[in-house]
Order: sequence, then C-alpha cells, then structure tokens
Amino acid sequence: MDASYDAIIVGLGGAGLSAGVELVEKGKRVLVVEKGKDWGGASKWAAEGIFAVESQQQINAGDYTTRDQMFHHLMNYSHWRNNGRIVRKLINKSAETLDWLAAHGMKTLLVGNLQDYHFGKTGTYHMFIDKFHSFDKLVDYFISKGGQVVTETEGQKILTENGRVTGLRVKHGDQVTDVKTTVVIVADGGFIGNSKMVKQYMDQDTTDLYVAGELKATGDGINMVHKIGGQMRGFTNFQNHNACVYPTFEATGSQGGNHSINQIYSLPLLWVNRRGERFADESVVYDSVLWGNVTAKQNGQYFALVDQKTLDDFKTKRVPMLGAYTRYFQVKKFIDSLKPEDVSSEMTVLQQLHVDAATGPLTTMDQDFQQAISDGKVVKGDSIADLAEQIDVDQATLTQTISAYNGAVKGHYDPEFNKDARLLKYDVAEGPFYAIKVHSAVLGTIGGIVVDENMHAINTQDKVIPGVYVTGADATGMYDNSYSDVEGITCAFAWNSGRIAGEDAARFLSKD
Ligand SMILES: Cc1cc2nc3c(=O)[nH]c(=O)nc-3n(C[C@H](O)[C@H](O)[C@H](O)COP(=O)(O)OP(=O)(O)OC[C@H]3O[C@@H](n4cnc5c(N)ncnc54)[C@H](O)[C@@H]3O)c2cc1C
Repeated sequence: MDASYDAIIVGLGGAGLSAGVELVEKGKRVLVVEKGKDWGGASKWAAEGIFAVESQQQINAGDYTTRDQMFHHLMNYSHWRNNGRIVRKLINKSAETLDWLAAHGMKTLLVGNLQDYHFGKTGTYHMFIDKFHSFDKLVDYFISKGGQVVTETEGQKILTENGRVTGLRVKHGDQVTDVKTTVVIVADGGFIGNSKMVKQYMDQDTTDLYVAGELKATGDGINMVHKIGGQMRGFTNFQNHNACVYPTFEATGSQGGNHSINQIYSLPLLWVNRRGERFADESVVYDSVLWGNVTAKQNGQYFALVDQKTLDDFKTKRVPMLGAYTRYFQVKKFIDSLKPEDVSSEMTVLQQLHVDAATGPLTTMDQDFQQAISDGKVVKGDSIADLAEQIDVDQATLTQTISAYNGAVKGHYDPEFNKDARLLKYDVAEGPFYAIKVHSAVLGTIGGIVVDENMHAINTQDKVIPGVYVTGADATGMYDNSYSDVEGITCAFAWNSGRIAGEDAARFLSKD
C-alpha cells in the first residue's frame, strides 16, 4: 500500500471491481481495500445472472423488451418513487456493460426469464458463464494495469478538509493507516451482515429470517458517507427473495437438503398466516420477489398446509404442477455445463428451453417429512383442531379457511384471491394434516445513501459531495419499497453503477 492514490475503492465486489477497472484504464492510480480474505462479495459468490435490455443476444433472438418499455415498467412498478435518471442510465448502459464484461473475459448467456411468472415474456436475464474464474481474471487484469488490492483491510473513515476528500482511514489487523486520496468510491455491499441494523430497519419480524447475503457487508460504507453528510434513505428496502423452510440454497439445489419438503413448499398449495387466514394467490410462488414480499407482509412467516392424501399423490405420481425452482435448476445445469469458448453473441437458449412442468414422484417423502418434523420444520396434526392447537392458530379461523379453500378447489374458482383454476388441485380434507413452517429469506439490502445518476453521494441539502461516490448495494435510487420484479437487476446495478462511478471519477480527477 502506498501513501497516496488518485482514488480508493472500499470493497471488491462487482461494483468496486468495475469502478477500479474503469479508473486504471484511464491511467488513474487506484487502491481497492477489501475486508475479506477473499474478494468478490455477493457479486462473485452468489449472483448468477445479470439484467440487460437490447443486448446483442436479445436482438438475435428477435424478441426483446425495448429500453423504453423497460423504463416505463421499472418506473411504474416503483410508482415513480425511485430515481428516473438513475433507472434510465442503468437501462441505457446495460447492454453495453454486457459487451464490456465479455471483452474483459466475463461472458454471459441470455436464458430468458427463469421464474415461471415471467417465462412467457421476453427475457432480460443473462447468466454468467464460469463466473468465479472470470471474476478473478478481471481482478488480475485490474492489477496488471497498475491497480492495487489489499485484502483483510477495511475502509473505516472518509477524511475531509473544507468539504474536499483528503484520504481514507483503513484498518488492517490492529494497524490503522490514513491513506491520501481525492476520490473515495464506496462499494461495500450494504448492511445485510449487520444484524442490529437489519433488526432496526427491516419492516418485519426478523427472528427466523434466513439471510443469504454477504455477511461482511455491515454498513461501514453507508455509515462513513453518512458521517460526512450523506443523505440516508430507503433503509427499510430489503431484497426479500422467495421464502424458505431450510436454507434456500438447499431448495435451489434440486436433490440437496430435504428434497420432498423443498418440492412441496415451493408449489402453489394452500398457505395460511399465523392467524390461520389465507393471504395470497399462492401462484406468487412463481415470482421470487412477489413471493418474498407476501412472506414479509405476513411478518416473515406462514404455513403451507397439506393433507396426507396430497402427499401420497406426490409420493407416487408425476403431478403436472411445476415447482418454483424447477426451471431455474434445469437451466442452471445447462449453464454449468458450458465453457466460455462455447458461448458466442449469437447464442440464446430462449427457444431451447423445455421444462417438464411436473413434480414427483417424491419417493423419499415419508423419511423426509419425518426428518422435518424432528427438525421442528413441520408440524403434524391428526385433525385440523389438533394442528391448529400445535401451531397456535385459532381453530375456528383455520377450519373456516380450509373449508373456503376446499370449496374453491371443488368449484374450480377462487373467489378470494382468484388463483388460476388449474392450480386449484388439492383440497385439505383427509388427515393427518401437516403445516410446513415457511419463513422469509433475504439476499441483501438495497437502500443506503442517496446518489445521482453518476453515483455521486448526495448530502442532506441535496447537493453533491465532491469526490465521494456510492455504488451497488450501498446506493439508494433504483427502487421504491420493494426489489423489482425484473430478474438480475441488483447485479446489473452493481456492475453498471461501478462503471459509471469510475468513469465520472476519472473525469473529476482529470479536472482537479
Ligand atoms: C444468494 C444470492 C443470489 C443472488 N443472485 C442474484 C442474481 O442472480 N442476479 C442479481 O441481479 N442479483 C443477485 N443477487 C444480489 C447481488 O448479488 C448483489 O446485489 C450485488 O452483487 C451487490 O454487489 P456489490 O458490488 O454492491 O456488493 P458485493 O458484491 O457484496 O461486494 C461488497 C464487498 O465489500 C466488502 N466489504 C464490506 N465491508 C467492507 C469494508 N468496510 N472495507 C472493505 N471492504 C468491505 C465485502 O467483503 C465484499 O467483498 C444475489 C444475492 C445473493 C446473496
């Protein structure tokens, strides 16, 4: 580590890396401090696909959403309470960023949309090919261009004098050092790893919350910028995504974990909240954000109810009902089989994708349910009354809910939530009865410091803080109070916002 740099970046995930590459390619002297032993954050270790519109692969596929259509969709979805300038810039840059990533060795392949809710619509999701190696190669490239990376070193404090950035305080082991710089780019992934902040800001019970995000992201960057006047907004905005019984990675891993439970809870059967009431058209299971949102709004937990007759059907038959993760799993298998050299800009798997839309036979059902009961994940009742008592739900309410649902199944019409009649297959009538405890899962935080479309930090007087940029999961502006229903947006925001910050910082430094 030298005594001074043009720019210091806090965090080496997608946002930090793309900012760094932009800066070194423009001849700037750049240091990245990374808290972990390993770099990469959620961008390397977790995200699998990235959003783009009007990419070459979409154009080749001949069926794509235009920039204008996507702009209106994202703005309307957020009731125009997000920042239109940021959204537009992300959209306009998204396809070029895919080309930029490919030119730097990180290839992606358009796979359409993986969530069944979106499958028939034109695809915007591009999955990474060989992501771990290509991420590391991009770090090597950054270093080969003169960039420096120090790991196990955390950014702690932005140093300023007369409103200008003068340095960054960093900590490595017990050693604290003030390093000079005129630009700080904060890219340390939000605050999902800070349980105190999560509890304080998340608008739901967090007791049984499953956190799948980057635990080293503890809000350091957001707090640093806040201390020098940065405006904090959108803190209650979390990336609720699906819902889980066991950790969600088990459910997305096909045969992994408790296979039968993972299959059954990810079907649109009967769901009730802790008051024993139905609360949604259960086919929201086919959209990971809507599913995450309805779970959050039941204060983070609900029960999926099934009877023995239903389980016996799935145990012995191939039932024509698609699980929420089935399409994802089949595409992922295909993606994992590809090497970067197999992928060209002409390719698309959009048309090739055939998924057997069925579940079962789940031959290990009995053992799996027994296991889940002893793990405390499933409750078994001999009667509805017995089940109600065990899950602490009012018996009369639960009986009434089940009877109304059974009526909907019988009449092929759901007067409450208008679930598609084809999914009204299973009543809950023949005991024993089972309640699967489903709870919220979250991938990360998506609100922090207010930025403009060039990722400048904005202060409490709504003015730019010169030389300070906030990117990726640390920035506020892309969303209102929910993650968007467009697949791959957070990862796109990380890589694009990092590039935007790097480009702007290079211009700022050249002027200085
Ligand atoms: C399981 C999972 C699956 C996901 N799948 C997708 C997907 O398919 N598509 C999609 O769009 N999004 C997905 N996401 C979300 C997406 O991965 C993140 O929103 C995005 O990667 C965030 O990028 P980032 O660069 O802001 O942060 P990260 O990539 O998390 O990088 C932050 C880095 O900062 C470091 N750091 C933290 N504090 C400090 C500090 N004080 N000093 C120095 N370094 C620090 C961390 O160690 C980390 O390396 C997924 C997330 C998860 C958890």
